[in-house]
Amino acid sequence: MSKNTDEMYAMRHSLAHIMATAVMKLWPKAKLGVGPVVENGFYYDIDIPETTISEDDFKQIEKEMRSVINQNQTFELSHKSIDEALKWAKSNKQPYKEELLNDLNREGTTKAKELEAAMMGLPSGIQGAAGSKVAIGDVSFYTNGDFTDLCRGPHVESTGKVGAFKLMRVAGAYWRGDEKNPQMQRLYGVAFKTKEELNKHLQMLEEAKKRDHRKIGKEMDLFVFSDLVGQGLPLWTPRGTVIRRALDDFVQELRSEYDYLPVDIPHITKKDLYETSGHWEKFGDELFSMTTREGHEFVMKPMNCPHHTQIYASQPHSYRELPIRFSNTTMVYRDEQSGELGGLSRVRSITQDDAHVFCRSDQIKEEALKIWDIIERFYGVFGMEVRAELSFMDPDEPEKYLGDIKLWKDAQKTLTELVTERVGKETTIGVGEAAFYGPKIDFQAKDAIGREHQVATIQLDFNQPERFDLFCINEKSEEERIVMIHAAIAGSFERFLSVYIEHTAGKFPIWLAPEQVRIITVNQEEPTLEMAAKIAEYAKKKGIRTYTDNDNESVGKKIRQAEVAKVPYSIVIGEKEISNGIVTPRVRKDISVIDTHPELHYEQFINTVVNEAKSRVIQSSL
Ligand SMILES: [Zn+2]
Ligand SMILES: [Zn+2]
Repeated sequence: MSKNTDEMYAMRHSLAHIMATAVMKLWPKAKLGVGPVVENGFYYDIDIPETTISEDDFKQIEKEMRSVINQNQTFELSHKSIDEALKWAKSNKQPYKEELLNDLNREGTTKAKELEAAMMGLPSGIQGAAGSKVAIGDVSFYTNGDFTDLCRGPHVESTGKVGAFKLMRVAGAYWRGDEKNPQMQRLYGVAFKTKEELNKHLQMLEEAKKRDHRKIGKEMDLFVFSDLVGQGLPLWTPRGTVIRRALDDFVQELRSEYDYLPVDIPHITKKDLYETSGHWEKFGDELFSMTTREGHEFVMKPMNCPHHTQIYASQPHSYRELPIRFSNTTMVYRDEQSGELGGLSRVRSITQDDAHVFCRSDQIKEEALKIWDIIERFYGVFGMEVRAELSFMDPDEPEKYLGDIKLWKDAQKTLTELVTERVGKETTIGVGEAAFYGPKIDFQAKDAIGREHQVATIQLDFNQPERFDLFCINEKSEEERIVMIHAAIAGSFERFLSVYIEHTAGKFPIWLAPEQVRIITVNQEEPTLEMAAKIAEYAKKKGIRTYTDNDNESVGKKIRQAEVAKVPYSIVIGEKEISNGIVTPRVRKDISVIDTHPELHYEQFINTVVNEAKSRVIQSSL
């Protein structure tokens, strides 16, 4: 972490303490859970027997927090042995802290790190400020005023140095994320160094709310959820399906240019496949499993790679055939916890535009760079910039990963060289962010309101080739172990669309718009309807999606409706259009590049739309 993020981190974490100080003052019987730093802010899980906090309480909590901030209390570090710490937790009636301390005591070193992280709220694998680590057997505390909390730090010097903050929301959260545990209240706040930065963030959130993909998805009728089908299982309407198909066509078009061969696989498999691949052990609770009537255990696939290895392994391969590239857009299934599900951002049925490259070690670089090209071309068409990041293993937790440490080191070295060469400078490395079978390059796409989202990945895998015994016959007629590269471009269509719908606020480009042209009639007379039908028929023949609005409404109202529906083009059919077939398209504002739209014959208009859709342009030429 840079100095800047370190400082912001300490500010946010200190605010969690200040919030707990305020809550304890207002509700002295409150029991504290954990208070980590999260993106843009902080939270604290609190169990308050005497009340349920609502947003109405934020004002008084914030007032108390300001009072603590104005007093500029010093954060003082002290240490206790675990026994003393346990005594402290008991006498202060803090059962959750007591539980953490007991676990820390019982579980010893390995677990301690995780627990320590939980107490601090650090995601495991990320280190706090240098020198802030607690020695095992000794626990650190921070005190400000008369509030003391079990904590690893880091903190700012005193409560006056925390920047600008705002409490945002409160939500139920099970203690340690387990629904068998008591439910606590999770109090969230955002914090920035300056008031200006905070305001900018709040404005962005306002804008994000307007663009919420769940809201737009409903308004535009793109996808729905059904209680009968279940949470996290989106159902795609005809309009949504148009978009998914168009996306997949685009991905496959790019893939075929780079010589990927489409394959297809069943959505279930014998458990044995995942025992061999290691997913059984590592995916654990996230796997949907079932038992057949004959008593065999089957699993819904959470990934496609193991299936693809079996296609590769079905035949002997000479080195001359390599790289072999498979592409496959298909669903995978993960049993996410219901509390984690939200719109399309996190679902249980995930459509991956997956691909696997089987190659020799000396082909990794070239192949990865080609995938990188595809990624840049893909996101370029959507007007989104991508940024690459490296995700490596955490050397302190080797048990989380499969395979030989030497293979990992080599792979990480290869990826570092590749990224440095391509980007021209060093990239951020997410330690502990690797997949369990290999390191990866993750791509972040920036949306229209400045948020970054993780999208595509290039992952190296030396483990599955080992586990499935994948090889090629090399120049010396020997069996040579190969490498696998996993390469999703959109990542998952669900997640990609959650990002993209918010990026565009539902204003899809011409090629993706579920409805590309709206035909508006000025009246319901026979010649008007005939002309509208003629144009619609011509458009259909050319593969253009239209909708004819011949309702008995004013033209003005119909035009407004077309705008609300975010249709890229609309044409009005009246007397003039009927007489000579000349139309004057109206173009959605965000894609208009000229002030006055040309008059042209409807065939010419439709053909222009065809060309624009084909070349996937963002802006209209009309
Ligand atoms: Zn702390
Ligand atoms: Zn894969």
